[in-house]
Amino acid sequence: MRSDARTEIAVVGAGYTGLSAALHLAERGVAVTLLEAHEPGWGAAGRNGGQVNAGLKHEPDAVERHLGKIYGPRLVQLAGEAPAYLFRLIARLDLECEARCEGTIRAAYHPRHTADLRASVGQWRQRGTIVEQWDAERIAGATGTRRYVAASFDPRGGSVNPLGLARGLTAAAIAAGARIHGESRAQGLERAGSGWRVVTPGGAVRADKVLLTTDGYTDDLWPGLRTSIVPVYSSIIASQPLPASLRAAILPGGGVVYESGEVTTYYRLDRDGRLLMGGRGVQRRLTGRADYEHLRRYALRLWPSLDGIEWTHWWNGQFALTPDFYPRLHAPARNLLIGLGYSGRGVALGAAVGAQLAAAAAGADLETLALPATPVPHIPFHALWRAGVTTRVAYARLLEALGL
Ligand SMILES: Cc1cc2nc3c(=O)[nH]c(=O)nc-3n(C[C@H](O)[C@H](O)[C@H](O)COP(=O)(O)OP(=O)(O)OC[C@H]3O[C@@H](n4cnc5c(N)ncnc54)[C@H](O)[C@@H]3O)c2cc1C
Repeated sequence: MRSDARTEIAVVGAGYTGLSAALHLAERGVAVTLLEAHEPGWGAAGRNGGQVNAGLKHEPDAVERHLGKIYGPRLVQLAGEAPAYLFRLIARLDLECEARCEGTIRAAYHPRHTADLRASVGQWRQRGTIVEQWDAERIAGATGTRRYVAASFDPRGGSVNPLGLARGLTAAAIAAGARIHGESRAQGLERAGSGWRVVTPGGAVRADKVLLTTDGYTDDLWPGLRTSIVPVYSSIIASQPLPASLRAAILPGGGVVYESGEVTTYYRLDRDGRLLMGGRGVQRRLTGRADYEHLRRYALRLWPSLDGIEWTHWWNGQFALTPDFYPRLHAPARNLLIGLGYSGRGVALGAAVGAQLAAAAAGADLETLALPATPVPHIPFHALWRAGVTTRVAYARLLEALGL
C-alpha cells in the first residue's frame, strides 16, 4: 500500500487565494502542497473579468462602522491597497499577464446612484486617495457612450489577463518550491494527531495545517462551508478584435468600467482590442451563445456602432457571495484556516488574502490579520437557492429574502 505524502501546509483550491498562499509559504521555505480539483486557475481565477479594483462593496466609512475600530481600518487598507499589492507582485515575479494600471471607472447610469459615487469619492479622499468625480461629459468622453450621468475614476485600479495571472502565479509558486497537484480533488479531511490527512482520489497528504481556498466552488469538504456562501454565476462575452475606429471610440484612455447599481455590468478592452462585456445572467452553467444574448444587446445599446461585430467567445463561472458582501476568514478547527467570499472582487483581494493566510499558517497571530476570524455562518434559505432559483427576478427576490 502506498504511504501518505507529507507536507507542512496543505492548501485546497488553486485560484488566486490558494496560489498566493502557496507562493508566499514556499518563499518562506515552508513545505506546501496545493491540491486542485481541475487545473490551477480552473475556477473564477481563470475566467473572471480581469478587473483589478480597489475597495469593497461597502464604502470605507461603512466598513469602519461595521467592523469596528480595529478591523475596520485594517480591511479598508487591505482592500484599498490590494491593486498596488497585486501589481507589485506581478512586477516582482515578472508575470506575463498583460497587467495595466490604468484606473477603474465606476459609472452611474441613473441619478439615484450619484450620491453613492460622491460619498465614495469623498471618503477615499479623506483617506488620502485622489479618486476623481466625473460629470456626464467626462464619462462620455472616457467610454464613448452617453449612457452615464456621472462616474468616479479610481487611479489604483486596472486590469490583467486573469488566466495569465493564475498560470503565472502557478509557475512562480512551483519555482519557489510549492508542490501543486491538478486533478486532485480533496474528498476528505480527517484529523491526524494535531494535524490533518487530506484524501484525494490518487492518494492522501498528511499536513500540520490546512488552508481551504475554494471560494465559489466550495463543496462539502468542511461541514457547512458550502452553504455558508451563495455561489453566484457571472457571464462574459468577448468580441472579435475591434477595428481601429471602434477601439478609438470605446475606452480610448484605457481602464476598466463597472456600473453602479443593483446588478453590476462590467467591461474593458483586452490587449488585442477585444471588448469583454460581463454581468450577471442566468444562474446555471451556460453553454450556448443564446444564453449570453443580454450582454450582446447591452453592448449594442451602449455603442450602436458595434452592430455587425462578431462575438467570438463566451463563458461563465461562479464566485462566492456573502450576505454582507465581506470576505471571510474562518478558523473553525485547530490548524485549519479558510479564506473566501470576495463577492465578485477577488482578483486583487484574493491575492492579498492569500498572503494573509500564508502569514497565519506560518505562525502569525490570527489577531494581527486584516480580517477577523469569524465562525462559519449559516445562510437561511440556502436550500431554496440550491433548488434552482434561475431567473434574475427570482434571484433578486432571494437576495431580498436574505436581507442583502
Ligand atoms: C465571470 C466572473 C467574472 C469576475 N470578474 C471579476 C473581476 O473583474 N474582478 C474581480 O476582482 N473579481 C471578479 N470575479 C471574482 C473573482 O474571480 C473571484 O473572487 C476570485 O477568482 C476568487 O479566487 P479564489 O482563488 O478564492 O477562488 P477560485 O479562483 O474560484 O478558485 C477556487 C478553486 O478551488 C477548487 N476547488 C474547489 N473545491 C475543491 C476541492 N474539494 N479540492 C480541490 N480543489 C477544489 C476549484 O476547482 C477552483 O479552481 C469574477 C468572477 C467570475 C466568475
